[in-house]
Amino acid sequence: MSGPTLTFLGGVREIGGNKILLRDGPDQILFDFGPSFSPRFEEFYVDFLQPRSTSPVKDLLEFDLLPRVEGLYSAEALADADLRYRPPEIHAVFVSHAHADHAGYLRLLDPEIPVHVGRGTRRLLAAIEGSGTVMKYGEHAWHLFEDRRPVRVGNLEVVPFPVDHSIPFAYGFLVRTSEGTVVYTGDFRHHGPRAADTQAFFEAAAEERPAALLIEGTRAGPDPRRNLSELGVRRGVDAVLERSTNLALACTYPRDLDRLRTLRDAAVASGRELLVSTRTAHLLQEVAPVFPGGPLPVAGGTDGVVVYARKKKRFFKWEAPFLDDAIPAEEVRKRGAHYLLAIDLMHFPELIDLRPPKGSPFVHSMSEPFSEDDVDDRVLHNWIDHFGLEFHQMHASGHASGPELLELVRSVDPSTVYPIHTEHPEAFRAAGPRVRLPELGTPYPVAP
Ligand SMILES: [Zn+2]
Repeated sequence: MSGPTLTFLGGVREIGGNKILLRDGPDQILFDFGPSFSPRFEEFYVDFLQPRSTSPVKDLLEFDLLPRVEGLYSAEALADADLRYRPPEIHAVFVSHAHADHAGYLRLLDPEIPVHVGRGTRRLLAAIEGSGTVMKYGEHAWHLFEDRRPVRVGNLEVVPFPVDHSIPFAYGFLVRTSEGTVVYTGDFRHHGPRAADTQAFFEAAAEERPAALLIEGTRAGPDPRRNLSELGVRRGVDAVLERSTNLALACTYPRDLDRLRTLRDAAVASGRELLVSTRTAHLLQEVAPVFPGGPLPVAGGTDGVVVYARKKKRFFKWEAPFLDDAIPAEEVRKRGAHYLLAIDLMHFPELIDLRPPKGSPFVHSMSEPFSEDDVDDRVLHNWIDHFGLEFHQMHASGHASGPELLELVRSVDPSTVYPIHTEHPEAFRAAGPRVRLPELGTPYPVAP
């Protein structure tokens, strides 16, 4: 094949794990580099059983959980893997957003390879790394791109467009190659606070008359889970808070800052304050200065956000600014009606100190479990039942619905559609005859 090609090295028949290689003459770019959330990974690795930190590439290659590509990995990550080290042959990596399934393997890359991210994403990644989580992204030659400003890599031109997703600073890309434009959507939705960005991206994509559309399909095919808009979540939480005179609790994804803002707004509207962990307070503080679309509340001021923490003798440096004014468990027990507590599963033992009265509302503001035998879900419900909390499911997904996806494909009208980041790529066939279900590792010409 002499013209430009696309090779899918991950994200094929699985949700997450996107790794898309674009080759055009001498130029090679990779889009996203994260582990999949798919069952394939979990066939070999679970919570306590993970690849060795001294030989991560070797341990992942063993089960084909990483692509066998030379000139991509660092010498350190390769260690004694049976893939030899070669100086970088990939000229740039573009990251669509900071979720683990798109950015989680960056640390394995050769540090000489330029990594292009949005300004806000860089800040978000640094805040996540800086707040004591296990997540590490590695040292890189970081390049920060600006909204809609083209970036040139060799003869390729990449234009990053902001899109709406359940994490701020998410992007889709238009990539101009020697034989037409490739559109890569990243992850996106159409029903959040930045829906207009998603709209503008797809309009720009349609104007390109693209050769190829690489579209995520998380919710393509059967989707029995209930989904609200962000505004719908707000209304639901409002109603719950209106009815209750107890401590109210909610759990969300830690990086879904739109949801934290929604919870804060609902708390304030009902005369409460939102209680968050020191980690969430740190994240809000780091990201607030660059947050797109309106102010992001931070802890410690008049924003209605306060920190819940137990008194402790040892703490991390990044926690220090939040500890003096932190609300302890006794205070929350006494004045429960004054608070909405954002709590994640990891912090459930706090309930033993907080002892919310029976019937206190618990809002599960996350996706419903994928399977019926979900272990986390069972544990969650055991805790809810033990404390006699009243369970409410209220979530706005980070992804567009099946019908929306088909509509978007028709509106962009590309020459070829490649459904990725989905377990049901065949569901896209309803959008027209030019749908190609990609196979892992097969190069496809951009202009067939
Ligand atoms: Zn994803």
